[in-house]
Parts: sequence; C-alpha cells; structure tokens
Amino acid sequence: MTSKDMDTAAPGHFIRRIISEDLARGKNDGRVHTRFPPEPNGYLHLGHAKSICLNFGIAGDYHGLCNLRFDDTNPEKENEEYVESIKADVHWLGYDWKDRLYFASDYFPQLYEFALYLIRAGKAYVDSLSAEQIREYRGTLKEPGKNSPWRDRSVEENLELFEAMKAGAFNEGEHVLRARIDMASPNMNLRDPTIYRIRKTIHHRTGDEWCIYPMYDYTHCISDALEGITHSLCTLEFEDHRALYDWFLDQLPVPCHPQQIEFARLNLNYTVMSKRKLNQLVSELRVDGWDDPRMPTISGVRRRGFPPAAVREFCERIGVTRNDTVIDVGVLENCVREELDRTSPRVLAVLDPLKVTIENYPDGQVEMLEGINHPNNPDMGKREIPFSKTLYIERDDFMEDPPKKFFRLGPGREVRLRYAYFITCNEVIKNAAGDVIELRCSYDPQTRGGQAPDGRKVKGTIHWVSAQHAMQAEVRLYDRLFMDADPEAADGDWKAGLNPDSRQVIKAALLEPSLNAATPGAVYQFERLGYFCMDGKDSISEQPVFNRTITLRDSWAKQK
Ligand code: ATP
Ligand code: MG
Repeated sequence: MTSKDMDTAAPGHFIRRIISEDLARGKNDGRVHTRFPPEPNGYLHLGHAKSICLNFGIAGDYHGLCNLRFDDTNPEKENEEYVESIKADVHWLGYDWKDRLYFASDYFPQLYEFALYLIRAGKAYVDSLSAEQIREYRGTLKEPGKNSPWRDRSVEENLELFEAMKAGAFNEGEHVLRARIDMASPNMNLRDPTIYRIRKTIHHRTGDEWCIYPMYDYTHCISDALEGITHSLCTLEFEDHRALYDWFLDQLPVPCHPQQIEFARLNLNYTVMSKRKLNQLVSELRVDGWDDPRMPTISGVRRRGFPPAAVREFCERIGVTRNDTVIDVGVLENCVREELDRTSPRVLAVLDPLKVTIENYPDGQVEMLEGINHPNNPDMGKREIPFSKTLYIERDDFMEDPPKKFFRLGPGREVRLRYAYFITCNEVIKNAAGDVIELRCSYDPQTRGGQAPDGRKVKGTIHWVSAQHAMQAEVRLYDRLFMDADPEAADGDWKAGLNPDSRQVIKAALLEPSLNAATPGAVYQFERLGYFCMDGKDSISEQPVFNRTITLRDSWAKQK
C-alpha cells in the first residue's frame, strides 16, 4: 500500500482496509479485538478522543471487542483520580468496555515470569552500569553502541541478581534488567533496551508489593498478547518501537502476536495537546484545573458544552492517515455548531443589559407570549415568555447616532422585539457621565407576535427580557487559549502565547425565566449570541453560571 492510498478516506481509512483484508484471509480466526491503553498520568485530551473513537469505533464496525487498559507502569506519576477521570471520559464519549477493564499492573506477576524466561533463554541480563554509562554505551544514530561489561553474565548470576532486585536488595539505579538484542542495531530501540528498573515507590494499585517496574515497551506488547488483541493501534512515534514489540513477542511463549499499526496523532492549532504541558497549565494555575472549559481535555470540552456526538463527528471527519498534519480547530468548532444548531433549544438572554421602559404599556400588566424552542423542529415545542412594561435589551442593539445600515434601535427608530411587539424609541436617558442608562419607548399593541396588520415592515428583530421576571446569571465568554496558531513554534516559552482574553466574565447577565428549569450540562442557544452551557461546578441556585460553548459564527475566520 502506498502512502497515497492511505490518504483516500472512503470507504474506510487504511486501518479499516488492513483489517478487512485480514478478515478476508481468515487471520486471527476472524476476530477483531482492539484496546485503548492510556497511562493514568493526566486527564484525557482530544488527541485521546481520536484514539478512543478509532479503537472502539473499529470494534463496533467489525462486531469486535475493545478493551480499556491502563498502562500503569510509572508509579511516580500515576494515580486513582486520573483512572476515574479517564473512565468517565470514555463513557461520556459514548463507548463502553463492558467487563474488559484491565490494568498492566495486574500483569506484574506474569511479566516477571516472562523476564525470568528471557534470562533463562539468554535473552536478558542484569546490567550494573549507571544510567549515564548506559547512555554513553548506547552510541548514536551514526555510531554503533558498545556492549556492557555485564552483558555476558551467566544465567545463574542473572537470575540471582534479578531475584535480589525484586526482593529489594539494591538501591534505585544500581542495576537494571536489559534485553540482550544487538548493541549495533541501526534501530536504537533494539540496542539492549531496559526491561526492568528499580523504583522504591508506592504504586496506586499494587502498593509496596513491587520495587521493580517493567518498562513500557516490554509491558505493552505482552499486555496486548495476553488480552488477545488482534490489532494494536498506536501513534506514529511508536513506529520505530515496532521491531521491539515484535522481538519480545517472538521470544516469549505468549498466546498470540498482535499486529501493531501506527497512525498520525491529532494536532490542533491554537492549543497544546500533551498531558505534560496541560499538567503544567493546571499546576501553574494558568487555568482552573483540568476541566477548565478552555482546555482541550475531554473534561474541559464537556464542561464547556461540546456534545459527545460533535467530538465523534470531528474524529470521523478528520479521518485516520499516516500524515502528520495540524487540524484547524475551526473544523472541531463547526462540528460543535452543527450539532448544537440541531439539538439546542432557543432562549432569550441579555448579556449587557440596557433598560427599556414601554411608556404606553399598562403599569403592572404582564402578558405571556409564545416562543418556539427550535425553528426547524416543532417536536421541541413552545414556551411562554413574560412581557411587561420594563424590559432589558442588549446594549449594543441601540445606537444613539446609528449609520443607515444599522437595523436595530436608535432614536425615532422602530424594531421588532422577538416574539413580542414593534417598539419605537422616543427618548434616550443619560446619567451625569453621559452614558445611556435607559430608553423610553412606545409599543404598537397591533403588532403582537411580531406582525403589523398594516403590512408595515421593520428590518431588525432584537432579543429582550422582562425586568421583573428575568433571572440573573454569571456568563463566562471563552476564546481560544492561545493567540498563536502554533504555540510550540517559538523556541522560547510556549506559555508566552497564552491569550490573556481567553475568558471574560459577565457577572449579571439576564435570562428569560424558563431557564430556571435548566440543569447543569444543558446547552441552549441564546438567540443571536451563541450557545451556552450551564456549568455543573460553579452554578448555585441564586446565581447559575453559563459557559459560552461557541459563538454562532466563526469570528476568527474574518480576522485571518
Ligand atoms: P501525551 O503525549 O498527551 O502525554 P500519551 O501518548 O503519552 O499522550 P497515553 O496515555 O500513553 O498518552 O495515550 C493513550 C493512547 O492515546 C495511546 O495509544 C496514544 O497513542 C493515543 N494518543 C495520545 N495522544 C494522541 C493524539 N494526539 N492523537 C491520537 N492518539 C493519541
Ligand atoms: Mg505516552
């Protein structure tokens, strides 16, 4: 298969084609079994979503299975909070591992047995060089490595030393167990890679049972084989590790030999996508935690209001190839817009309120007007919106000295209030500083519902809320976390490009009263303003918080 073939997505990407061919040939007895193997050392990000959709998606398409396996071999960096967040995120994306939840740490005894097997076969040895010496002996891409003076220890001595390593007889760094492959291999990964190292650290699952921990490359292929994985899908940086993956499985009496297939990782512009960097943003308090709605984490976009269907659609649209590219975040944002346009109820909300008094509306009168919840979906029903003498409109829907093309409110101008009446601005009230603080208007009672019986037209329709009925809310407007498309491009500090205006907080926005029934996580379209999601963490009943999920249109497209 050429790389050109891999680019053509339909009907399936290159991995689907490989699997279809395997099935046609009867490989793996017709089984398809994948896995998603996160390390529990941080929260999942959108790159992981690509891998989750790919692995679980393939299992679904081929009536196969997909495991969730935690690759928990680095006790220093891993913990239960991460394990739980990862499970929640995979579920939220719409996937289920059923009873196939695994931990590499469950295989520690088996991995140890296999290490003894390698030693007995003369394929592994205990090395007593220091970490620095091991690096020196390793050579470079141009020069071969040198054999360690300990490489030819006898099997007996190796067994004895390795058992003593396990028993805690040595300090960290005193010895390691290495595979005995080829110090001159052009593939650096095959120059006697380390299999086990001593770490006197408590593991979040195995406690102090072990003080030697297996390395990722050794653990991963064996875990795959023990679980009967058929296709082990990973990102391109593991391409050079494939020879090692295969070497271990060829030496060991494992039940099967899965096929490793690499694909390009997801990169998005205007953000960073590595747990290490995201962890820095969190620990340096640049954001409010892993689930800050500006974060490209799954918990972040969930809190922001991205629907899981939009993230899945995005992963489908970007496809799976072997070309390392950067995807424009606008592609994701469009998936979110399309999904929310279809699914979210419309409501009226005013973010920057300007008072409007309808002078000819009876004092104390309240009438209920009817609003439709979705313009194209009658099944979403209708609701009542109270109207009264004192209203609020959006401040920027009024201009004292409007240009001709401004079709909203100005002195002497008439507009339609959404679902309500035509109003005309008669008088502008200002405070001592000269700021407009109120508009005195009149309404035309004949225009109830937004139509004039005389056929008179107005060009503008604006949103509003009734002062006495509105509920107050905090609204958080989010923008991209970084100002530069490629925050990592500069040699200097990648955090220098953080967008200082990525969050703007409005303390007292006014919402139509139907939003009293809003529940955390629900997303609404605030008409003319964008999509907003009720925050599940900071909302209190007197003051709900709404996160702007996304604007109605791509405001960045214009700037470019
Ligand atoms: P990070 O670099 O963010 O720390 P990682 O690769 O170290 O990510 P893991 O927990 O090891 O994180 O990843 C679990 C799985 O998700 C792996 O199979 C990995 O290849 C895949 N994955 C990680 N990042 C991406 C990405 N940006 N695009 C696609 N798949 C990814
Ligand atoms: Mg990793």
